[in-house]
Order: sequence, then C-alpha cells, then structure tokens
Amino acid sequence: MKLIPLPAFADNYLWLLHDGRRALVVDPGDAGPVLAALQQHGLQLEAILVTHHHADHIGGLDQVRNATGARVFGPAHEVIPAPLDKLVDGDHITALGLDFRVFDVPGHTSGHIAYYCPGVDGAPLLFCGDTLFSGGCGRLFEGTPAQMLHSLDKLAALPGNTRVCCTHEYTLSNLKFARAVEPGNADLIHYQEQCEALRARGEPTLPSNIDLERHINPFLRTRESAVMEAARAFDAETTHDEVGVFAAIRQWKNEFR
Ligand code: ZN
Ligand code: FE
Repeated sequence: MKLIPLPAFADNYLWLLHDGRRALVVDPGDAGPVLAALQQHGLQLEAILVTHHHADHIGGLDQVRNATGARVFGPAHEVIPAPLDKLVDGDHITALGLDFRVFDVPGHTSGHIAYYCPGVDGAPLLFCGDTLFSGGCGRLFEGTPAQMLHSLDKLAALPGNTRVCCTHEYTLSNLKFARAVEPGNADLIHYQEQCEALRARGEPTLPSNIDLERHINPFLRTRESAVMEAARAFDAETTHDEVGVFAAIRQWKNEFR
C-alpha cells in the first residue's frame, strides 16, 4: 500500500492510500489534486472517507464522486452532501480490503469522526482530520475542552506505532508553541530540528505517530507536571484537573504568536 499526502490550499493534506490499482481518499477539500493523482497513477477510486463538514475537507467531494463513482463515508451527525454512508462510533467499514474502525472524536466539530485501521503493511493507520495535529490539536469550534480532551485521550491510547495522518501542515507553528509550554522537553527540541530540516526541503512532516505525539504534544500531556505548571503560569485561575489544564493551554495557543 502507498500512502501519499496530496498538498492542497495553503496547508491542507488530502490523504491518498492505494494498492497500485484501487485507491481511497480522505477529506477531498479540492477535487483537482485528487483527480490528477488518480490519473497519474492509473487508479480507480473506491472510497471517499470524510472526517467532518468544514469546506476545506468536503469542497471537492461532489466533483470527485461524480468523476469516479466512489462510495462516500462520513459522520452521521454532520451535514455532508448525500448520498452518504453515515457512520457512528464503533462502526466498521471496508475499503481496499482493509478494515477501518470509526471513532467519534467531538471537539473541533461536534460530529467529527476518525478512521483507524489496525494493520496496513504491518503498522496501524489513523485518519484523524482536524482533531489531532503533530504537536497540536484542532480549535474548539463546536465542542468543549472536556469533549476534545476525551477525544484526544482515545487517540493517544492507540498503539504507539500508529501512523497519524493529520490534515494540515501545522507542525512547525505547533512546535513553537509546544516549546513555550515545555522548554525543557528534549524530545521536543530534537523533533523540532527534524521537522525544520524536512520543511526546508519542502517535505511533509507527516505522518506522525502516536508514540512521538505522547512525548511532544502538549495537548496529550496535560497530566505532566511541567505542562500543569505552565498552564497555571499562563492563567493562575487554572483548575488542577486535566480538563482545566487542557482548557488553559488551548486558550494560550489561541492567543500565541
Ligand atoms: Zn476543520
Ligand atoms: Fe481543516
């Protein structure tokens, strides 16, 4: 299987997975790059997986569906252009002969879902939309801090070698913020250097993996004393529970330049 992040707009990735013959695509915000890649590699598009309703994730959906006849899967509780196979937490779908499990991950949007396949060429694969980014997480447009923390906890509990296919190249700006939260985190310093080198060559920093994110992503580290202390230094009113810490660092990130 080949996993390809197709760049779109300023910083989106439309993930394409294919076996040389058949393909699936996640969140086709723009039809152009998807149709070009299918043609370039001679692929038949079998499935379109949608994580949430934002325009940069579904803008090319109808055009790609009309051009390919691909079946569309998406969240049951969001408005996605029909026809749609509506999915909820715990559902399983098959695409390219692979089994994907659906997780409800509310927070960025209220009906956001993620797709997890336990084995693609020996390692698990996660399509998490705008829920988890490398070094960061999505903004809370429709959900509460408690919901987003619970969603991120579900993803953080997946096997460490799970490849994390995020839908935006936000890594460097996320890591700049992560360094402000945890200036003494050696893993973070090392990872930032690696990502700077990748971006200098014009290469994606993604996919990431769950083990790495557990070590460097402040939004998965709200129980770490360094992160708790930094949250309280940002906002002295921060409550001691992990939801309070999460809410404080999410607010801090919103204001961070
Ligand atoms: Zn979004
Ligand atoms: Fe997005």
